[in-house]
This record gives sequence, C-alpha cells and structure tokens, in this order.
Amino acid sequence: MKIICIGRNYSEHAKELGNEIPENPVIFIKPDTAVLKKDTDFYIPEFSKDVHYELEVVVKISKGGKYIQKNNASKHYDEIGLGIDFTARDLQSQLKAKGLPWELSKAFDGSAVVSEFLNKEDFNLESLQFSLSKNGEKVQDGNTNDMIFDIDSIIAFASQYFTLRVGDLIFTGTPKGVGKVEENDILEGFLEHKKLISLRIQ
Ligand code: ZN
Repeated sequence: MKIICIGRNYSEHAKELGNEIPENPVIFIKPDTAVLKKDTDFYIPEFSKDVHYELEVVVKISKGGKYIQKNNASKHYDEIGLGIDFTARDLQSQLKAKGLPWELSKAFDGSAVVSEFLNKEDFNLESLQFSLSKNGEKVQDGNTNDMIFDIDSIIAFASQYFTLRVGDLIFTGTPKGVGKVEENDILEGFLEHKKLISLRIQ
C-alpha cells in the first residue's frame, strides 16, 4: 500500500507558504510505514521543532489501474475519509532551499493519520466541507470546491506515473490554516459535522 499525496492543491494554502499555484498536481509519496497506528498518540519526532498538521480529504482506491481516464476515475474509489499529513516544516524548508526531495520531512513513521472511511455516495464530493480543531478552536476550514485539481483529475494524472492498487490512499491536499503542534495538543478532524479524527500530541 502506498499513499499518494498532493501538495499545493488549495490556492490559499499555496500562498500562505509562499508557493506558486501549480500547473500540474504536485505529488509525493508516503510509504505504508507512515500510517499512524489506530488509537495511538502522535509523538513529535526528535528531528523537528516545527511539526505542522495538514488536514486533508483522503480517498481509498477500491479498483486498481494505470492510465485511468478522468471520466472513468470515479469507478476506482468507493470510500472517503480524512487524514492528517504531518510535516516537519523546518526540515522541509531546509530541503526545499537546497532543491532536495521532501521525503524526510513528510514520509516519516506516524506522519500519516488516517480516519475510518465512509461511503462516498453519502457525500457531495464537489462540495465537501471539512475542518480541524486544535484544543477546541477551529484552525482549518476547507471545502473541496476550492481544490485546484479535483479527485478524478488527481487519479488521472497520478495513474500515468504510478499503478494504483486496491487499498492505496490519496491525500488530496490541505486548505489554509496549517500550523504547529505542541505536546498535549488535541486535534479533532470533522468531515461535514462528523468527527472522524481525535488525536493527542506527545
Ligand atoms: Zn499535505
């Protein structure tokens, strides 16, 4: 299982990090070892002093494929959920400045929080509201209608390069409002009004 992640898919978030709006999806991958085990706390890794949360809508691939056409892409997933793409922002900034790959800052153990998954038929994927609270205060409030590349476009693009397999996950990008986590913070992720993530930081 692999996790395909999209960077800079919400223009307001691209701006807050000083990045340009991309012409094609910005893609990176997390290995399966990045998934945080269910019902465990997130431990800030020793190599970072500035770990950021990024709440994202996550799509679970239910049918594999390669060169998937956009108009066929919706047949390749049945369920959606939420995820947090934890990012060691200080390390990422150093790597970016040197023109190096981001993996160390994005793909470390526990960096991918994944919620339960829900039937996509119960939602309007084109206008899906999702939000993250930190210690009870809303810090991110997104809507998939602000995505630069929608789910089907991402699948069509990514599957030109990577064969998609059943169980692969796609993290579809984060809206603005990313920020630092500290010990004892509680993060809660909501899809529409349903709480799918509740996580303590250590
Ligand atoms: Zn992200």
